[in-house]
Formats: sequence, C-alpha cells, structure tokens
Amino acid sequence: MRWAIWGHLWTDTQREGGRPAAIVERCRASGIELYLPHTYPIAASSRGYFSPGITYASRLFALPVHDLLTPLLAAAHAARVRVQPWLLPFVTELQHGESAEELFPRRAYQSAEFARAGAGAPPDGAAKDGKVLCPTWPENRARAVRALHDLLAAGGPHLTGINLDMVRYPNADVSWDRPCHCQACRREYLRLFGTDTLRPEDLRQPAVAYLFARMRNACIRALVEEIRDITRGAGLELTVSARAHYYEAAVLEGQDWVAWARDGLVDAVLTMNYTADRAAHATHVQLHGRLMRQQQRALHYDGVGRGSSMGENPIEAVLTLARDSLAAGADGVSIFHYNAMRDDDFRRLADLA
Ligand SMILES: [Zn+2]
Repeated sequence: MRWAIWGHLWTDTQREGGRPAAIVERCRASGIELYLPHTYPIAASSRGYFSPGITYASRLFALPVHDLLTPLLAAAHAARVRVQPWLLPFVTELQHGESAEELFPRRAYQSAEFARAGAGAPPDGAAKDGKVLCPTWPENRARAVRALHDLLAAGGPHLTGINLDMVRYPNADVSWDRPCHCQACRREYLRLFGTDTLRPEDLRQPAVAYLFARMRNACIRALVEEIRDITRGAGLELTVSARAHYYEAAVLEGQDWVAWARDGLVDAVLTMNYTADRAAHATHVQLHGRLMRQQQRALHYDGVGRGSSMGENPIEAVLTLARDSLAAGADGVSIFHYNAMRDDDFRRLADLA
C-alpha cells in the first residue's frame, strides 16, 4: 500500500515537540512513503494549521524565516521517506502582508466588476479577485519560476521532489462566471474574439468556451513544462495536487492534469478528493481511474480527507474511502492532513498494508 500525506510544516513540527525529524519517524513507522509539507505562512484559522512565517530558508520572500525544512530533509534522507514541499505559483495572499493587489496591482486576477470598481473590496465576496496573480501574465509565470529556484536552493542536496499546488486559474465558480479582465487577459480576448470584453454569457457558446479554456491551459501548461525541465535537470520528482472535479473545475481552470500525466510532465497526480460523501468520492475516483488508465507514465494517489474544509472523516471512514480508491484503480492514497490525524489513526493505516 502506497500512503502519502499532506502536511503543514510549522504545525506538524509543533505537534512533534519542535522536532521536524519526528514527523519523518512517524511517517516511516506508519508506512507513509511520501510527506508533502506546506512551507509558506498561514493565517490562524480553526482548521488545525498555522504558520507565523516561512519554514524554509527563503532568500526571495521578505518574511520571518524559520528553517524547518533543512532538518526535515536530512532526517527524511536517512529514513528513506520522500518529502515534496509545495510550490504555490500564483498565490501571494498566504504571505502575510503581501497581497497580489498591493504588490502587483496590474498583474492580479480581476473580474470585470472588480476592475471597474478599482482597487478595493471585491463585489459580492468574490474572494479570489485581486488576491492571486493572474497566470496569463508571463511575468507572473516567471515569478513562479523564481519561487521554485528559491525553494530548490533552500532544499539543498537532500531535496528529492516538488509538489505543485494551485497551479491553475482561480476556482471555476469564480473565474468562469467572472472571467479575468486584467490587461494581459484582455489582450488575449481581443486576439481570440475581436473584443477585449468577455461576458459570462459569451461562454455559453461552445466554441468560445473551447478557445477560452485552451488559452488558459496553454498558459498553465507552459509553466508546468518549464518547471518539469528545471526539476528533471536537478534530478527531482515533480507531482501535482490536482482538482478532484476534473471536468467541472480542473480543465476550465487550465489544469488538465490528465494530459500532464499522459505526456510525462509529472511523476504523480494526487487528486484532492477530500469529500466526506462516500458516493461522491467514489464517482470522482472511478472517473480518475478510467482517465489515468489511458496512460502509464504517472502514479495516481487518490486524496482522502481526514479533516478539511470539506468536512471530517473518522479514521474508519478514511480506511473505507481508501479501499474504494484502490478498488477504482488508484496506485495509492494521500491523506489530508497530518495534523488532523490522531496518534491512534496513524497506527490504523497498517490495516490496509
Ligand atoms: Zn488576467
């Protein structure tokens, strides 16, 4: 059984008495082969994770640095547990005090309504407006590559892989209903449609929707291809945390992870299939299993939530969902997240050994 687990390096280290090595020891003892830590600052919330600063030796981000990654990687190297820190290419809101709108106002994602309103609160709570960088800008993709190099330099010789997270446009329920109208997107619309304005109703025309999604996928894929070249050149694995709603979200947001797997751009896909609804989980993983069977070049870890914004699953339910994942053809299961697991929960993973 291939077990992986997402984590949050600051919180997980706190849980282990301040010893990153203890995370690795617990993973190894539980049969978890891959630990994927979030290493950026995280605002306090009730979700069981938080970080007051960045937890790798960043020289790019002007933040409090607490280097927990170096001792984690040294321990992981000795224990043969793989560690893949997340790269968040377009998110800056997690970096305290560095909202995209403040740092790069022209290059932030902005719906037409947001752009019209100017800088300020987004209309009707569209939380993504102005808070993430729009992937259409080559400058934003170049910044993501700088962030990758920052992480690689900090990781040093014991780093063995990178996990891509949120490598896509904002959620489809925002970005499809409220297409971005930053300068770079408007330039693309003008080229594709002869007008620099794209209304949600325009996307009901299948050909317009196709061209729009194709543009988005071309932008994101170009970045993934570049990151693949860099990580492969450095001898590192590359994996992606993928949207579970493949048709309804991933493809519309420029994250066609099935194509990336088929074309050898990633070594593994970890689907974020965290729902507590067993039938919905099965529907997703059965589709993913059918899609992933059409290629042989990447592993498929199905994501199962122990505790997430989509709800809580007791460990019994986690094991049931994991069995469903394997029955649908997944190569392994990735759990969200480390600090949502109780001590006894880790021992129960042996039930599926
Ligand atoms: Zn844009």
